[in-house]
Amino acid sequence: GPELYAPERPNSKGFDLGHAPTLARIEEARAPWRGHQWQAAPLLAGDAQPEAAKDVTSPTDQSVVGTVSQCSPEDIELALALADPWDASAAERAAILNKAADLYEENFGELFAILAREAGKTIPDAVAELREAVDFLRYYAARIPSDPPAGIFSCISPWNFPLAIFTGQVSAALAAGNAVLAKPADQTPLIAHRAVQLMHEAGVPRSAMQLVPGRGSVVGAAITSDPRVNGVAFTGSTATALRIRKAMAENLQPGAPLIAETGGLNAMIVDSTALPEQAVQAVIESAFQSAGQRCSALRCLYLQDDIADNVLKMLKGAMDCLNLDDPWHLSTDSGPVIDEGARAGILAHIDKARSEGRVLKEMRAPQGGTFVAPTMIEVPGISALEEEIFGPVLHVARFKSQDLDKVISDINATGYGLTFGLHTRIDDRVQHVCDRVHAGNIYVNRNQIGAIVGSQPFGGEGLSGTGPKAGGPFYLSRFCAPDRQSSSG
Ligand code: GLU
Repeated sequence: GPELYAPERPNSKGFDLGHAPTLARIEEARAPWRGHQWQAAPLLAGDAQPEAAKDVTSPTDQSVVGTVSQCSPEDIELALALADPWDASAAERAAILNKAADLYEENFGELFAILAREAGKTIPDAVAELREAVDFLRYYAARIPSDPPAGIFSCISPWNFPLAIFTGQVSAALAAGNAVLAKPADQTPLIAHRAVQLMHEAGVPRSAMQLVPGRGSVVGAAITSDPRVNGVAFTGSTATALRIRKAMAENLQPGAPLIAETGGLNAMIVDSTALPEQAVQAVIESAFQSAGQRCSALRCLYLQDDIADNVLKMLKGAMDCLNLDDPWHLSTDSGPVIDEGARAGILAHIDKARSEGRVLKEMRAPQGGTFVAPTMIEVPGISALEEEIFGPVLHVARFKSQDLDKVISDINATGYGLTFGLHTRIDDRVQHVCDRVHAGNIYVNRNQIGAIVGSQPFGGEGLSGTGPKAGGPFYLSRFCAPDRQSSSG
């Protein structure tokens, strides 16, 4: 069976942001791209006839970063007609995916610039994102399956990891030999367009790798309901995943796989034996890094009552130190949320909590872009959260030692099961809690974001996704059609 914990290729080295010459190298590589205008358009195996170009603006200051021309209905039809599974040998596919990883790394300055300006990514977030993308390419390249591909695979990715998750889905589908139709998120077509250009440059044939930018209601709907499509990889909301499943059930072959990674209502439990400094840092990172726009992010913190006041005081102090600003600058801890619609939804949630007198800590957001200040809200428990709030909002509840199992059952009762964090120095308790919490990724005495390809396969259960986990040994099998091989001989 697949070897579980020891990937035979190293992960990307990334960038040491504590090293001044490395920072200078990043600055120099990004500088030419500070005011650049990128143009995204469909990348098809034939001539596209897309819709008129529209502006892509930055969430930081609404400046124009470039333009995107979205697929016309004719373009989608053309992409489906020309899609052709990648019939290169396993060795050749692996070499080309590894070459794409090299090209991503060589172009880091441009990619960091797009990530900052189009997606509001801070430098540490952009570094982590590039590393993860490169790791996905090399990890899947090291595991090319021997089973035949499913055929045509539609990959639909989110704006919150517009390079890493985009690349993860696509590289898995390609490693298995599929023809990919990739629809990037509406908000982040520029980085996806550049990524596909690099894959083509590395040698992925255009008939195997087509980019189909456009709205979910048009392009997304078309590529999940066409009977020529053999499988779908989707990361986004649970509601959209359910819509896709329905469209697939009505139109695709009954066995067509859906690999969905969706939302979470992620909790952390901090008991009275936890190290407060460690817990506070983990909470700040888990709740507020990437402006809380990770499906792994901490949404509901449970503090044991005897330490709650102390930890809350420390958390407020740590929040005061967070610097919200243009993500281009190294001194920035947190950038904007992705767009005005996202901001309005998060602010409505905060306003409601304020009117109920439950806001424990608020800060001021910079003017100009779609910033939301990190906010802390008191709740009786996780069941008070009706939905995932995808932004820098931390909910805090208190619990008594004797109610620990009730807390665990409340966490499980949300129906989600993505990440979970635990801070304790009682070994038995680690076992007790981890045996009972239903979550795909559990982290003990650290933050609960930033899963690492190959060592922390990422994915949830229940409403959080279908599995198999991305960056893990079983992921590629879902992109294959083993039955086809057995029926043909
Ligand atoms: N893999 C990411 C992490 O571990 C989260 C992915 C997502 O937000 O979709 O933080």
